[in-house]
Amino acid sequence: MSKLVLRSVAKSYTRGTSVLKPFDLVVQSGELVVLVGPSGCGKSTLLKLMAGLEQLDDGQILLGERDITRLEPRHRRIAMVFQNYALYPHLTVHDNLAYPLRRAGSAKAEIRTRVETVAAQLRLGELLDRRPSQLSGGQKQRVAMGRAIIREPELFLLDEPLSNLDAGLRSHVRGEIRELQRRLGTTMIYVTHDQVEAQTLADRVVVMRSGEIQQVGTPRDIYARPTNMFVAAFLGTAPPNFLPARIRDRAIELEAGSLPLVALPAELRMALAGHDRIFVGIRPEALQSTRLGGGELKLTGRVVRREFVGNMQNIHLAQDRPAEALATLSRLTGRHVTGELVWTTDAANMVERVELGLRPEDLLLFDIHGEAIGLAKGEPI
Ligand code: ADP
Repeated sequence: MSKLVLRSVAKSYTRGTSVLKPFDLVVQSGELVVLVGPSGCGKSTLLKLMAGLEQLDDGQILLGERDITRLEPRHRRIAMVFQNYALYPHLTVHDNLAYPLRRAGSAKAEIRTRVETVAAQLRLGELLDRRPSQLSGGQKQRVAMGRAIIREPELFLLDEPLSNLDAGLRSHVRGEIRELQRRLGTTMIYVTHDQVEAQTLADRVVVMRSGEIQQVGTPRDIYARPTNMFVAAFLGTAPPNFLPARIRDRAIELEAGSLPLVALPAELRMALAGHDRIFVGIRPEALQSTRLGGGELKLTGRVVRREFVGNMQNIHLAQDRPAEALATLSRLTGRHVTGELVWTTDAANMVERVELGLRPEDLLLFDIHGEAIGLAKGEPI
């Protein structure tokens, strides 16, 4: 088990276009940290720098007590699992597992015991004589994990390891990876662009955008207290509804309703002082029909579309939002924002017109630059 420290790590592939801005991160020994962010934000580059497959321009990488910044990849005691498994097609499962040990010049007896141990840990005992082409996707994934753990690395790096598996298997293998990591106690950094994967696996999540950290925290913290609109839109089953609002007459005034400031917790009221225009974020699952007693804010709307997801549905309500506000919202959240309000509710709900409310404490508040109002900036990194 080893702690990993990245200090001011910077990288650009071509001069003047920086892929990683000076980047600081501490991963505790035995911790599972998930790097998440849209495609192209620099996640794989960061892993390659740690593994030594790319050279950094600046900064320092420490693993345990060692400075590994300039070490050859094979001396780093880091194992990496790639998306395409990278198994040798002409070798059996046994020989794929043994390969890293043979290459390191381990003794035959040691190779035999290590392969046996790892095969037992990953339930590969029955498959040792097969070649990769005779394995299912999930089994290939287990062999790739086995080959990664066989040299008892101090750090695992996993780059989108489940993206070649179908949805059902993905959740199963994800559980297996988590369990294995717990059992071995090895520090792990796991890259994905899938926010569900991030939330279900991670001790802590690192949300990245354009080579920079947006927020670091536990999945719960990041969901409850996103530091900005980009993070709020990235994590969560459906992105929040973001609505432009004004502070006027001791109330948060929206196009479609208003909320008296007295309904908000005192810290938020204080933090709102000096703000005139803001954005409010409302998670679709936080909205409730006011018939069921859904809080003080009232939003009304006409149903235009329904998406059924199991026993729930996302109801889309027509809303009038000016094109200019939608363009700003799309820029701040990094995704296309439409003029519809989304409400997640029971699939059996067949209403056509609704009046919705929410608990004031479920309201997310952002300034005109998209930064969260009234919340600490997440934990220090
Ligand atoms: P992610 O893993 O988050 O999708 P990457 O780290 O793969 O992001 O890429 C980050 C940025 O660096 C992208 O803009 C990508 O095009 C660029 N990039 C990645 N690898 C190279 C390379 N070898 N040469 C030049 N540019 C690269």
